[in-house]
Amino acid sequence: MEIRTRMAPSPTGEYHIGHIRTLLYNYAYAKKNMGKFILRIEDTDRERYVEGAVDRILDIINDYGFSWDEGPRVGGPHIPYVQSERLDSYKKYAEDLVRKGLAYYCFCSSERLENLREEQRKKGLTSTKYDRYCLSLSPEEIEKNIKENKKYVIRLKVPENKDIIFKDAVLGEVKINTNDIDDQVLLKSDGFPTYHLAVVIDDHEMEITHVMRGIDWLPSTPKHVLLYDAFGWNTPVYVHLPNLKELGGNKKLSKRYGSVAAIDFLKEGYLTEALVNFIMFLGWNPGGEKEIYSLDDFINEFSLERIHKTDLVAFDRQKLLWMNGYYIRNLDDLGIYNRLRKWAEKFNISLNMADRSDDYNIKVISLVKDRMKLLSDFSNLTGYFYKWDIVPKERVSEYTKDETKALEILVNFHERYLNIKEGEWVKDRIDEINHEIIKDKGYSPKEAFMTMRIVLTSSSATPSLVDITELLGKKEVLLRLEREIKSISI
Ligand code: GLU
Repeated sequence: MEIRTRMAPSPTGEYHIGHIRTLLYNYAYAKKNMGKFILRIEDTDRERYVEGAVDRILDIINDYGFSWDEGPRVGGPHIPYVQSERLDSYKKYAEDLVRKGLAYYCFCSSERLENLREEQRKKGLTSTKYDRYCLSLSPEEIEKNIKENKKYVIRLKVPENKDIIFKDAVLGEVKINTNDIDDQVLLKSDGFPTYHLAVVIDDHEMEITHVMRGIDWLPSTPKHVLLYDAFGWNTPVYVHLPNLKELGGNKKLSKRYGSVAAIDFLKEGYLTEALVNFIMFLGWNPGGEKEIYSLDDFINEFSLERIHKTDLVAFDRQKLLWMNGYYIRNLDDLGIYNRLRKWAEKFNISLNMADRSDDYNIKVISLVKDRMKLLSDFSNLTGYFYKWDIVPKERVSEYTKDETKALEILVNFHERYLNIKEGEWVKDRIDEINHEIIKDKGYSPKEAFMTMRIVLTSSSATPSLVDITELLGKKEVLLRLEREIKSISI
């Protein structure tokens, strides 16, 4: 049997990083088993429908490096893969259930239902249920109502006091009594199916073998099992995955702590391979020390048995940042440059490279890449390679504690650098000269080199001074020293 998994996003808002985790597991399981991964859009909730969300969801899934074997944009044997384009089929199936006596028309007005809920709440009931008023309507009454064009929904006739038992590949056997389940609406008065009806019909028609989704859908599963029974179909294998929470405590992922939407992580400058590697472990663990996994490694090792049996897993933002730095460091300089430019173009971000040559920019990257945890760190780490301003006197004398001495250091470096021939402006020669200066003048390495570093970069934490000096070039270094000397001397 072909393994067929699916992701079924609803276009009700931004695609969440947790959705990508669920998608990854579905994708990997299908690929591991030479099966198919299907994408379906569940857009039957018209009230929560967000214009443009379908395209954004499809784009972000592609941005994370995933594609689907069947679904919107690519087609497949079960087209259409968008629920709002499959309405006729849902209606037909719902009416079949009515004919078989397993579902019924309900003409109750929203006022009646609201009053009913209110009464039940007053009685102290925690969950409110439909009272089955319409279940006892005679065929004549039903026909009359329909003729009069009265609005109706179709409800599932949930059997009374029956234990529904299903097996979840992660949670084991789950049991729930039907007395806790309301007579679900299957078809709404606007002709749209509810999620419950549509998901069951589509998963069946699209021959889905494994339904892998967040554990927050667990309470819906017995309703789905009832529907499979009513239609006489086999249920798929259920796999409920833990939801994500902030590290420490039981807080849902929240914007207060950082990005939540999948797109925002990319905008912040995370690499997709780092994100995908990180989310592999949000609910699964191979049980070893290894934590750097390519997608292919993951597909090879992924198994349902190793999915965590818990309702929440911690999203460790520091760990993600570390992992991203790891992936950046492991790209070559040109690779980082290309990624930076693509990222800046996609999100319309200025890299402030002041029209310098590719060669120069790539050398800049080689000097700072060990400090980059995000692509967006680049500009903060490299401003002085592109633009320079006079550094305030107090900062220049931070290490000498003496303005005159700081000035003297700058003058000495300037004088010696002036004599270096263009062709000798390489870091080993610069390093030799730097050491000659401190030896001749009796400066401590710290006071001399930190003073130079602050003047050239306005920062005390930078890559090595000789690397910077070499890359900036003789002309630029002399110019910065001259301007600073002039400013201090006034
Ligand atoms: N449309 C549901 C969602 O937005 C899918 C739930 C499921 O996978 O069954 O998450």
